[in-house]
Amino acid sequence: MSEILEVIQLGHSILRSQAHNVNNIHSPQVQNLIDNLLATVIAANGVGIAAPQVAVRDRLFIVASRPIPRYPNAPQMEATAMINPQILAHSTELVIGWEGCLSIPGIRGLVPRYQAIEVQYSDRTGKLHKQELTDFVSRIFQHELDHLDGIVFIDRLQSTQDLITEQEYQKLHPV
Ligand code: ZN
Repeated sequence: MSEILEVIQLGHSILRSQAHNVNNIHSPQVQNLIDNLLATVIAANGVGIAAPQVAVRDRLFIVASRPIPRYPNAPQMEATAMINPQILAHSTELVIGWEGCLSIPGIRGLVPRYQAIEVQYSDRTGKLHKQELTDFVSRIFQHELDHLDGIVFIDRLQSTQDLITEQEYQKLHPV
């Protein structure tokens, strides 16, 4: 049975701490954590969630891109657990785009991210994947990877002028 977990918010020290490599992917703790993160990100209407956001210092996150009211143009993909993820190479091109975070409710910001990245991660069966991610999915990966290093999107803003409330965002970008 999966459980919807409490998402911790900015100010909690775990959001600012370094997560540790996962060595026991097949353990019930890690497999339960993945099930619970999947349930939590869907319930919270998010497109990604990282273990530190539920107060667990493990290097794993979920990427769950799909069109939802907060991100109507997000590409559809199967929600995927990515364990011990790394960026192997990246484009020089940066793209500026809007981000929000389940741990920083009510706020959106314009964040520069690499347009394309070559990544490596293990899936929940322990299989190693190498793949290229582009555009919005590349953005999600970079946002979630930052959570494993205690970084949140507001640290990446070029200017605090690029920060707006969710309410004003909805006025600027009506669905
Ligand atoms: Zn986040």
